[in-house]
Amino acid sequence: MHITAATAIPVELHLKEPFAIANETVETAVNVFLKLETDQGIIGWGCATPDTVTSETQESVTSVFHHALKELLVGKDPTCIHLLTDMIEENVKGNPSLKAGINMALYDILGKVAGMPVYRLLGGYKDKIETSVTIGLNPVDVMVEKAKGFVSQGFTCLKVKCGMDPDQDIEAVLGIRSAVGPNVKIRMDANEGYTLEKALRVIQTLENLGADIELLEQPTPAKYLYALKEVTAQCPVPIMADETALTLRDSLKLVKMEIADMINIKLMKIGGITNAIKANIFAELAEIPVMAGCMNESMGAMIAGVHFACAFKNVKYADLDSALDFNDDVVKGGALYKDGFVIPPEKPGLGIEVDV
Ligand SMILES: [Mg+2]
Repeated sequence: MHITAATAIPVELHLKEPFAIANETVETAVNVFLKLETDQGIIGWGCATPDTVTSETQESVTSVFHHALKELLVGKDPTCIHLLTDMIEENVKGNPSLKAGINMALYDILGKVAGMPVYRLLGGYKDKIETSVTIGLNPVDVMVEKAKGFVSQGFTCLKVKCGMDPDQDIEAVLGIRSAVGPNVKIRMDANEGYTLEKALRVIQTLENLGADIELLEQPTPAKYLYALKEVTAQCPVPIMADETALTLRDSLKLVKMEIADMINIKLMKIGGITNAIKANIFAELAEIPVMAGCMNESMGAMIAGVHFACAFKNVKYADLDSALDFNDDVVKGGALYKDGFVIPPEKPGLGIEVDV
């Protein structure tokens, strides 16, 4: 079997409403679909979601694809995923979302060849995972209404964005807790917005007032490793690294230096399923649980995170909700949401149809 054509198709998707976090506000999401055709008629789909966090743009993804990867892929056996991943790594530095898009397209082909959904092919630990849904930064009353809306739709875990104004963050989380009751999980994500002192004050105050926070994600700036380590040491709730954990090597450093209690692995940061598997393995050996997260990803990209999450025991948390945010996604099928869980499709491969 060999790849006969490789195509990159940029798509801009519109969010149902603007989404604000501590370091940016977005209204549209850039995704680049990757299509790999084979001599046996099987087509593999993947999708890159470039982001400031990955230091990529739609232009850089398409340009690097055309100049460095298209020719490299054509003629190769798409089922030799480790070999191709290695070749791509030797030819292209950085560009993790582009690599993730291609890598998931290879797994899509492998699953179609095997007649199995990717999560089962990878080991199939569970057939669904509880996911958080995200509440962006807004006036407190808007955030509380949003929380009530999600819970009425059956979601059982909320991720509350914070990091701009500690007092407002406390007010928002307390408002949400009293609106949704004690049985809904609340996790927080500061997107690098706090100092060590602010993070500790917010969490201590919330704990004293019974807010029951599940975890706090990336309280401090990504580059200050020791600030994060210090929050982890002092904070009464578990600390999860996200922006600090970009590459496979970053994840290894976090584990070795005991900088965070948990790691948020996003395929777009780490370069695809193959690297995510490696990071999850060394995290598991160090007894550090992993979250499968996402960027502003079309279902075409997010679906790979769902398969990864369901394949492994140590992926204990999921924040796989970006596909809910768009009016105009070009993907049909993919994951389903039910009773707070996200469920991978049972079709062979990633289980998506792409209309671009
Ligand atoms: Mg995050």
